[in-house]
Amino acid sequence: MKKERRSFIKKAGLGAAAIGAGIATSAVPVIAKEKKFRWKMVTTWPPHFPVLGEGADLFAKWCDEMSNGRLKITVYGGGELVPPLGVFDAVSQGTVEMGHGAAYYWAGKAPASQFFAAVPFGLDAQGMNAWILTGGGMKLWEEVYAPFNVKPLLGGNTGVQAGGWFNKEINSISDYKGLKMRIPGLGGKVVAKAGGNAVLVAGGEIYTNLDRGVIDATEWVGPYHDLKMGFYKAAKYYYWPGWHEPGTALEITVGKKAWDSLPKDLQAIVEAAAYRSNMWMLSEFESKNEAALEELVNKHHVKVKMFPESVLKELKKLSKEVLEELAAKDPMSKKVYEHFLKFKKSKNAWDALTEEQYQKFKHL
Ligand code: CA
Repeated sequence: MKKERRSFIKKAGLGAAAIGAGIATSAVPVIAKEKKFRWKMVTTWPPHFPVLGEGADLFAKWCDEMSNGRLKITVYGGGELVPPLGVFDAVSQGTVEMGHGAAYYWAGKAPASQFFAAVPFGLDAQGMNAWILTGGGMKLWEEVYAPFNVKPLLGGNTGVQAGGWFNKEINSISDYKGLKMRIPGLGGKVVAKAGGNAVLVAGGEIYTNLDRGVIDATEWVGPYHDLKMGFYKAAKYYYWPGWHEPGTALEITVGKKAWDSLPKDLQAIVEAAAYRSNMWMLSEFESKNEAALEELVNKHHVKVKMFPESVLKELKKLSKEVLEELAAKDPMSKKVYEHFLKFKKSKNAWDALTEEQYQKFKHL
């Protein structure tokens, strides 16, 4: 007993010594831990924009709460500090510490970025989460943004988007000939390949363009958002599904210098808040879309239509061509595309046994 007690005291003594040493050597980190960070986050959305802008606001609130006020982030809507499409440059150059948007907006700087937002006939929200968070996608995304000194974080997802608002029926692929549609990114390239005219129109101008017939069609997000945008007043048909954006991921970006200046615990808080933001945004869309769709159909008499299967098959063929052309032109896109395809093949095989089987019987 005595021996055991002595051994305990000895160990306890050692422990106390170790703690003492810890206090002595960690004096500087303790000061760093108390340091308050005041950051700016610029976004591609109008201020407090439903779901997307709200998600950015909540992200900042959660960082503040979790850090007990040590990390305060002021969120700016697009155009308040920098233009909506100036977000990536502002983060890259260190003008601001953080950004909020979607990776496909930066296709002109880094074509491979598009894979981390939306790929036509690509992965859905569940698939994007699996690929990016634990399937190896994040490592590639970091590689794509590294030359710009930007660190990406997954910050949200829209779920399957709507095919779009049309003033003309789509019965065959030839109906795309001459169709003027507001559709960005890879989806726009597919529409162009089908003979359409894919145009880019800023969010605030889409309604007027559609109403005045400057464009024949537009895609946006889904019922909850589209209802607020008022597209039902300017277009006859609401087409499904959003083959071009089957699960669009939103991003939170951090400048490298800003990220490196954060102590480890605040870095962990930023990552945790991004995870929460990702789940919140998808859940917000998924829980509110159906009620908005019912309002569009019952109150505003919107005609919901499905793209014919033959059209979707053609669009899928064209999508593959667009992706292969992108891979042939840009080595980084090729690297990401190959990884994405391999993952998708494996995910599709798993889905064939799980999601697909269950979907058939969920209405029983
Ligand atoms: Ca969209």
